[in-house]
Amino acid sequence: MSTIKKIGVFTSGGDSPGMNAAVRAVVRTAKNFDLNVVGIRHGYYGMIQKDFVELDGISVSNIIQQGGTILKSARSADFKTEEGRAKAAQNIKDYDIDALVAIGGDGTFQGATSFYKEHNIPVIGIPGTIDNDLSGTDETIGYDTALNTAMDAIDKIRDTADAHDRMFLVEVMGREAGFIALETGIAGGAELILLPETLTRMPEIKSSLSDVFRAQRRSSLIVVAEGDETGGAVKLADELKGDFGKYDMRVCILGHIQRGGKPTARDRVLSSRLGAAAVQSLMDGHTNVMVGLVNGEVKVSPLHNTWSKKKSINYELLELAKMLS
Ligand code: ATP
Repeated sequence: MSTIKKIGVFTSGGDSPGMNAAVRAVVRTAKNFDLNVVGIRHGYYGMIQKDFVELDGISVSNIIQQGGTILKSARSADFKTEEGRAKAAQNIKDYDIDALVAIGGDGTFQGATSFYKEHNIPVIGIPGTIDNDLSGTDETIGYDTALNTAMDAIDKIRDTADAHDRMFLVEVMGREAGFIALETGIAGGAELILLPETLTRMPEIKSSLSDVFRAQRRSSLIVVAEGDETGGAVKLADELKGDFGKYDMRVCILGHIQRGGKPTARDRVLSSRLGAAAVQSLMDGHTNVMVGLVNGEVKVSPLHNTWSKKKSINYELLELAKMLS
């Protein structure tokens, strides 16, 4: 029998569509186990500020379809210090919270790892980030929605690129990981995809583009991850102007629209499964782990591994993109 009576749930770091569906699943599953649930608003910042709200089954009604997060998110520099984490731990104990469910990305889980080590409060992670850069899960919550948002934007850009015979450089999110760029690039039929994981030198980029125009294509589209070593779409456009000046070149930075919007069905199902699994895992005595989906099945992985082991992109997909472009 678990001694846990009250759990705290929070969303932290960059918001991602599906976080609300995960909160809903955590609350409703907890109710099945007769647990009380406290929402910690504004992530670690709210933990330090005692920004707590009681959640019941009704309070999470009608949120499964909403993007953003009803619990809000924030970044907290204080939580990166031992003093900040000690204050947060005291607040958690004062509020009789026995365990935590953290929904966030690699930064959130680095914080949770230190917090558990220092204060021994049970914690389970749920992967919530559009970046898909966490080991221990095939996909993170929000990734599929972000992919579809970016693909939809690319489709629209292609229409206008084609109408005016333009070259478009589309920048998508991904400071350190190219998952979004790679899959939206394939789904949007990009002529070239540039990622932080691969070093593509300028002569190579120019030669690929020359091939595109030699094939008599009048418009083209390059997808660039914001963290690509070229420095992003604006810098790349500057570099290309000299050799490709005769083409009408435009840059489009998709930015924060990739974070918003209704979660896709796939993200809602993922959130629901992982939210329920997080509570079940706590009840089973797990702690300091993340719940993820591996080959379609829920698995738990040590929290530390999720951010310390670099998740690799699928290089076969990159080769496929090159062949089809
Ligand atoms: P995303 O990748 O989607 O932006 P994230 O969870 O990685 O999400 P971060 O801003 O990196 O977002 O981290 C969220 C919060 O986690 C930070 O504001 C900070 O409070 C805490 N955090 C991040 N890294 C650490 C760390 N090394 N030690 C303690 N706390 C940390």
